[in-house]
Amino acid sequence: MSKPVCVTGASGFIAAHIVKQLLDRGYAVRGTVRDDGASPKYAFLRDLPGAADRLELFRADLLEEGSYDRAVEPCTAVIHTASPYRVNVGDPEKELLEPAVNGTRNVLDTCARTTGVERVVLTSSVAAVTDEPDPSRVLDENDWNTRSSLRRNPYHYSKVEAERLAWEYMRKNRPRFDLVVINPFMVTGPSLGPSLNTTNAMLRDIVRGVYPAIFDLVWGFVDVRDTAAAHVAALETKRAEGRYLCSGDSLHMRDLVLLLRENGFDPYGKLPRLDLSSPAGSAAVRLLSRLQPRDTGVYLRTHVGRAIRYDTAKIRKDLGMHFMPSKESILEAVKDLRRWGHL
Ligand code: NAP
Repeated sequence: MSKPVCVTGASGFIAAHIVKQLLDRGYAVRGTVRDDGASPKYAFLRDLPGAADRLELFRADLLEEGSYDRAVEPCTAVIHTASPYRVNVGDPEKELLEPAVNGTRNVLDTCARTTGVERVVLTSSVAAVTDEPDPSRVLDENDWNTRSSLRRNPYHYSKVEAERLAWEYMRKNRPRFDLVVINPFMVTGPSLGPSLNTTNAMLRDIVRGVYPAIFDLVWGFVDVRDTAAAHVAALETKRAEGRYLCSGDSLHMRDLVLLLRENGFDPYGKLPRLDLSSPAGSAAVRLLSRLQPRDTGVYLRTHVGRAIRYDTAKIRKDLGMHFMPSKESILEAVKDLRRWGHL
């Protein structure tokens, strides 16, 4: 059997699918979780095919130095996905920035102390690529988010700072392992566990009528199984290098709402009907965004009327990725929200 692979934040939406795919491919997996690995809340991981023989869970926290040592020690590779993914937090420095950045340093330090880790795959984000898409440009791996701060899209800031730290760490310390970064866009699709991740929560909110109107918003979506497959390919492809934008096709909010309505996902009759996606509508949305919770308001002001465009040629070519159509993934996600009782 090959040497084990460590997956940090194994209970997360994306990480659980990575764990599943690694087990399906015969790997031994050492997952880190925040509570006791024997806790009932991780039963969905322990029940995965192959888990009884090849999955071990270890308690670790991004903010506790050295807490990843035991899980990582015998591994040849680490997939570092753990990082808080939330908007509208009370204290962005403590709740987002510190765990993202210090946690990444903590995990890289742990890997550098081992003799066996050869590759680290880091889950970064589109949030490290842009925080205010420019519709006249096509984004690629050379683009960096230079505008976020603790007050402006702080989740974006936590991701760009964590990824910058990782590349800087590699440059300064020249560790024995190499680093490959995956930058997923909006990750959707079915969840292996009961918790609700932030992107799928947005779909739930659209169905529940939290969005009063259709805004001029365009998102790049990627299915969670494709996202997991990209991480596994990054681990297995020797010549993989640098960053990889990871996204399927993009969808306007208008088409997303239409998709949900046409497929009968309007159980409360609350899918938005008012269309504010015209330039005048966007001006109104920017004004009204001041009434929203702070981070939602900033997100709207930096994204409304700014369709995102991007080029995923690198991940298709180097990692052989094909992406599921986003409409298919979204429909599966919404069915799954029902299955877990989130809708
Ligand atoms: P998720 O389900 O919320 O997973 C986040 C994971 O991080 C959870 O396992 C969580 O543990 C763990 N975590 C948070 N704070 C921690 C701490 N202080 N110490 C240890 N573990 C901690 O979200 P996800 O969507 O799978 O996100 C996983 C990664 O993908 C993140 O790095 C996120 O930024 C990135 N990403 C997500 C998307 C998306 O649309 N979902 C898009 C691009 C990038 P608990 O379960 O105990 O809270």
